Amino acid sequence: MGDIQEKFSKKFSGYPKVYRSPARINIIGEHVDYLGGLVLPAAIQFSTDLAMLPNSSNRYRIYSVHYDSLVEVETLSKQSDQKWANYILGVIDELKKEGYIFGGFDLVVDGNIPQGSGLSSSASLEVGVCFAISDCFKLGIPREKIAVIGQRAENNFVGTKCGIMDQFIISVGKQDMCILLDTETLSYSYTQLDMEGYEFYLVNSHVKHSLETSAYNQRRAECESAFRKLQTHFKNAKNLYSINQNEINFLDFQFTAEEHKRLKHVFGEKDRTREIIKAFSEKRMVDAAGILSRTHDSLSQLFEVSCEEIDFLQSTLLSLGVLGARMIGGGFGGCILVLDSINNRNSIEENVKKKYYEKYKIETEFYSFTISDGVNSVNKI
Ligand code: ADP
Ligand code: MG
Repeated sequence: MGDIQEKFSKKFSGYPKVYRSPARINIIGEHVDYLGGLVLPAAIQFSTDLAMLPNSSNRYRIYSVHYDSLVEVETLSKQSDQKWANYILGVIDELKKEGYIFGGFDLVVDGNIPQGSGLSSSASLEVGVCFAISDCFKLGIPREKIAVIGQRAENNFVGTKCGIMDQFIISVGKQDMCILLDTETLSYSYTQLDMEGYEFYLVNSHVKHSLETSAYNQRRAECESAFRKLQTHFKNAKNLYSINQNEINFLDFQFTAEEHKRLKHVFGEKDRTREIIKAFSEKRMVDAAGILSRTHDSLSQLFEVSCEEIDFLQSTLLSLGVLGARMIGGGFGGCILVLDSINNRNSIEENVKKKYYEKYKIETEFYSFTISDGVNSVNKI
């Protein structure tokens, strides 16, 4: 961690406080966190590293090591042309809107989360910045609120209409625990999965199709318009996820073909979430892994947020005998989450890499990870 302090002292003066904000996986509940659904995420030990020091002025001077770019701002009248800076300026903006009072600061941001790979480097950055401001200026913002501020920054300043899951787990995560989060009420509980004999790991496709933000917002809009149609009958429904699909006669609502498919994904995901929680509690890991693969099929065929390369990689993993795998995150590229028996990975890894490279001339990367704490100052980790 001396490393980020050193990087800070190359740009600014004084002794900053240092913070670390993790990445996340989500086991199940994909694309339902903006629809009031249940999700099962965990924080993982990739990190955004931040060094922050108040500078006794009204200026925010922020430096990204990754982009080797310095942005200085005094008033937040508009978005920066440096995309990375907007995740930070958005947090400042939302904190000000909430009435928090704090001065300028110098900030250096670095880290090892692969960006745009579905591990939520963006939420990690937002939550890291919000936590650092809260700590440096003694604002005492609760972790749950930090999550909400981070989400609003992404919704309003960056323009991605993401749900609350990523920021929430990155704020409240605990080592070795995942959380079951109700994204309608924000109530949550910690659960430890008994992984004996099994493991999760990630495979990065190193593909990122640029339509992600527009398609993400479009999927959300389709779900919202389907919900509006359903509300003519389900007048008291608080969100789409809460509606019982057995009470719907789909023909009554004149859904578009897209709306119909999105609904089938959401209601299917609700069933799979219930099933996987039961499977984990009964240690039926093979069944749990199969449910993950079904979620993948639904994301690919019904929610239509996968892509050719990801589908190829997922089916190649299954054909080589892994128990279950699914795309993770917003979609259109990024990582696949695998659940498999321990010790199987060694025998398939080279083969997967070779087949993928032969077809797309792109390298894949396999990542092991541990489940980690949420955002923290480094001396507390
Ligand atoms: P994901 O959240 O899945 O990683 P996004 O496209 O939502 O992908 O967010 C990635 C963006 O977040 C990057 O393009 C960059 O602008 C910003 N970002 C994330 N981490 C960092 C970092 N350590 N330094 C600077 N910018 C970052
Ligand atoms: Mg993101």
